[in-house]
This record gives sequence, structure tokens and C-alpha cells, in this order.
Amino acid sequence: MDYTVQEILQFVEENDVKFVRLAFCDMFGSLKNIAIMAGELPRAFADGISFDASAVEGFMNVEESDLFLFPDPSTMAILPWRPQQGRVLRFYCDIRHPDGRTFDGDGRALLRRAVADLEQAGYRCQIGAECEFYLFETDEHQNPTGTPHDRAGYFDTAPMDRGENIRREICLTMEEMGLRPESSHHEQGPGQNEVDFAYTGALTAADNLVTFKSLVRVLAAQNGLYASFMPKPLKKHSGSGLHVNMSLQKDGQNIFVPAGQGHSPQAESFIAGILDRIAEITLFCNPLTNSYRRLGAFEAPKYISWSHQNRSQLIRIPAAQGEKARMELRSPDPSCNPYVVFALLIWAGLEGIVQQKPLGAPLDLNTYSADKAALSGVQPLPDSLGRALQLAQQSDFVREHLPARMIRQMVDAKRRSWEGCTSAEDRDRYERDRYFY
Ligand code: GLU
Ligand code: MG
Ligand code: MG
Repeated sequence: MDYTVQEILQFVEENDVKFVRLAFCDMFGSLKNIAIMAGELPRAFADGISFDASAVEGFMNVEESDLFLFPDPSTMAILPWRPQQGRVLRFYCDIRHPDGRTFDGDGRALLRRAVADLEQAGYRCQIGAECEFYLFETDEHQNPTGTPHDRAGYFDTAPMDRGENIRREICLTMEEMGLRPESSHHEQGPGQNEVDFAYTGALTAADNLVTFKSLVRVLAAQNGLYASFMPKPLKKHSGSGLHVNMSLQKDGQNIFVPAGQGHSPQAESFIAGILDRIAEITLFCNPLTNSYRRLGAFEAPKYISWSHQNRSQLIRIPAAQGEKARMELRSPDPSCNPYVVFALLIWAGLEGIVQQKPLGAPLDLNTYSADKAALSGVQPLPDSLGRALQLAQQSDFVREHLPARMIRQMVDAKRRSWEGCTSAEDRDRYERDRYFY
């Protein structure tokens, strides 16, 4: 919703709002915020609220450290888990330098640019995410244990499924915040759950995903549980993916049409564009050493291929009709920065359309069980963070679209993780300490 500043100030007045959270994400997609008192809100809209960006991962250095947060009025939401007397209002923010320039480490600004480029070409992109996560038990100090919350599997029901109450709470809280959950279920792994979102524009989809992860963590903690979005928390079980469903509208019409009816050439080129660039942007889609333990098993892809139905493939075109017809990209995981990932996907698809890239034939086979011969000639996704890093560094596409600062910060941080992990005596422990706790 687009509210005017006047409407917001009136809302604050009438709804007993005492605190305002100014929220943003660091380079790696982790949610950060500062609370200001409600009376400061007019100043925040007019002049921004300054913060020490040198303390935020991947932002600035100590010599030039001041940045300003400007709340984006369209992202207003009450935090339902905070007291309802003296309420807490939340905004996602745009980040600017003291002289008013957009900060080039701001993922929201990046995604806005990608969306604008796509619109310039005559298309609107809709994104719907499916986010998987695990729930673990906690100990008497509320610290997470390695014990999953239940032993249920795909689509199981109570009493095996012990997630039904918290999924209910999650969906209702999402609705209160203006997010539209569409469905939820117990996933394959013990304690693994999923909630699917209705599609929205790309920027809202990224904001919503960040909100979702935060509310899942909070509600889990309130229920004495620990929510983990780690891509592969349990070695022997299914990993957690973040499937990204994308559709494109031209002149108000969805150009993705269901299987068998022939996709529009532009939709095919959009897919071809993403397939072409996916290897070099995998660093951003799968940014942890742990991400690569998920790929290639339990319905997570390993090869750069597409198909109508098969879930071992990178891109699937589900059997859905009308406005729901779309492509589903299955490689990203919930540890990614969704702003950066959605932006790169949009630019990759757009490049496909502009260059009229042809879409190769579908690979209608199960890539897990297929023999070597059937897969010869099919390119694999990078199989480690080290390989993904190498491909991203060599990529002209990444250099063309991402600000130099973002690339530098990402590459430095990921090189450190890769070296840290490969030289660690106990790699499992290295990942557990960093990504689980
Ligand atoms: N958990 C699987 C993954 O890692 C996906 C399962 C599904 O298709 O929902 O991507
Ligand atoms: Mg799933
Ligand atoms: Mg899916």
C-alpha cells in the first residue's frame, strides 16, 4: 500500500504507536534495525536517521561510516509479536549517503533498478517464494539443540506432525502483517516445514521474505523452538530450499502459459537467459559452504537444465494455469540475500529476452538416477563455494550489474569462509558453529 506521510503520522496517532523500527538488510541479507521513538518519525521521513555503517557487515569502513535510513512508506507494518499497547511500527528503509546519493550497498535500491530496467522493456515480473525451514528443540537455556521438533515427513499430519500449531501462528501473523501466505505443510525432513507465498512484485516479494524469516524465528522462540534456515542442517535429510517462482506480464497478460500450450518466445528466452547465467550467479543464490551440501539430492538440483515436471531439475515449469503459470527456479536457498538474487535473476532473464536466446530442449529425466551418458553435455551447477566464487569473479555479467563495492565485499567474505571451511579440522563443526547457532 502506498501511504502518504500524513496518513502514516495519523495512523501512529490513532493506533498507540510508540516505537518505529527502521529496518534494512546487510550485504548478506541479514535483517538489521534501529528503533526510534514515534515522535522522531517526521524527522526520519524528512532528513533520514543516521547510523554507523562501519559496524554493518559488508557496508562501509571506519573512515567513511555515516549512512542514513529513509523509511519507505509503502512497507509500513505493525509488529504483531510486540506489545499491542505502545505498538511497534516497522518500515524497510532506503539507504543514502549524507549528500543524498543512494548507497550502492543497498539491496533494495539494486532490485528497484532491475525492476525498472524490466519495465523499460515492457515487462512486469511477479515473484512468489516457497521457503523451507527446520524447527529444532531448545535446551533449558533456550539454546538450540540438534534434535528436530518431530519425526514427521512430507505432508504428514498430527500427532506425527508437531508443526501444525506453529505453522498456523506463522500464517495468521503473516496475514496480520499484510503478507499473503497461500499454503503451508510439513516438509520431507524431520521438523522441516514450508510456507508458500502468493506472488507480488519483486521488491515486495524480497521484503516479505525477510519479514517471513524474522517472524518465523520470533514465533519459534516464543514456542520454545529454534528455527533454522540453514541450507543443509541435517546431513541425512532433505535440505531447505527457497524456490523462486517467476512470471512475466506484458500488457497485463502473463506470458508464461501452461505446459503443452507452447510458451511465448519471450518467456522461453527469459528462462534461457537465467539458465545461461545461473552458474556465475550461484555465489549469490547459494552463498554458504553449507549450501553445496544441499544441491544434488532430495529434490535439489545439480545440473543446469529445465523440465516441465521433474523436480530434480534446476527450472521446472509447473502444471499451473492462467495467472499462476510460471517458471520455478529450484536452486536458491534461504541463506541468500533475496534483493540481490531477484535483481540478478531479472537481469539474466531480461538479457535472454533482449538477445532472443533460444531455450534448449527440456531434460525430461530424473537427474539423480539417470546414467552418465544421458547427462553428458549437461552442465552442472558449481559444486562448491570455491567454484561458485571463481565463476562469479570471472563474470562480466556480475560486473556489469552489481556495484563494485558489493562484489568486493561479497568476494572477500566468501573467500574467507571458503578458506576457513576447507582448512578447518572439523568441517561439520565449522559450519554448525557459523550457520546453525
Ligand atoms: N527440500 C527440497 C530442496 O532442497 C525441495 C523439496 C520440494 O520440492 O519442495 O530444494
Ligand atoms: Mg518444498
Ligand atoms: Mg517448489
